[in-house]
Amino acid sequence: MARTNNTFTIGWLYPDLMNIYGDRGNILTLLKRAEWRGYDARLVELDRGNVKEMDEVDVFFFGGGQDREQALVYQDLLEYKQPPLERAVAQGAGVLAVCGGYQLLGHYYQTAGGQRFPGIGMIDVRTEAGKKRFIGDVVVDTDVPTLFPPTLVGFENHSGRTFLGPKAKPLGRVRLGFGNNGSDKTEGCLQGTVIGTYLHGSLLPKNPHLADYLIRNALIRRGVDELSPLDDSVEMAAHEQILLRAHHR
Ligand code: GLN
Repeated sequence: MARTNNTFTIGWLYPDLMNIYGDRGNILTLLKRAEWRGYDARLVELDRGNVKEMDEVDVFFFGGGQDREQALVYQDLLEYKQPPLERAVAQGAGVLAVCGGYQLLGHYYQTAGGQRFPGIGMIDVRTEAGKKRFIGDVVVDTDVPTLFPPTLVGFENHSGRTFLGPKAKPLGRVRLGFGNNGSDKTEGCLQGTVIGTYLHGSLLPKNPHLADYLIRNALIRRGVDELSPLDDSVEMAAHEQILLRAHHR
């Protein structure tokens, strides 16, 4: 179905393979928050070999996955998904990539065993796994303009250590947790309309302001720069709970 001014399309990359620690909740949040603003919100599932309707997508979501699942998708990403994804992003579509998906949008992901999966280099990051897994709650302070409150909360579980190159800037700094690599205190990355992060949980239900940031940015090309406010009291209570828990650690 062609994009109209009233449709809002989410493209879910590899829902069958790259979908762990509640990542599905991000899809539901984006669909619902677009719907509550009167859009005809719809989902396009992009499994291996399928690139149908990728140029209709407003926001892509790429979830996490263990090394085994990443090994199953990285070639399809390079061969089939990269060209239409780059086209869509060049036309203003947004991308939210979590953990294993975040890693494969970079230059490469190297497992603890030394196996290297080339990424599509859409974001200027590289990842090499270490022996120790980074697991636990995460609190991030962010200085992304228009993102308020300037905090993000979630859960991480990864062996990868991600390092940012000059073209990518951090999504924020960890107040609690390991973040990108457990050493430089950065978490995630922001490059153009692409956001990468290690925050599972799922991320968006407890960070509705980030969901709106993605939706609003994808609608700029339609001349929309404001979204009607929603009652986020429940979502923000969950957000505050994690901040409080972090504070008492
Ligand atoms: N396999 C990757 C790692 O261990 C990503 C894990 C994930 O998506 N949670 O770092």
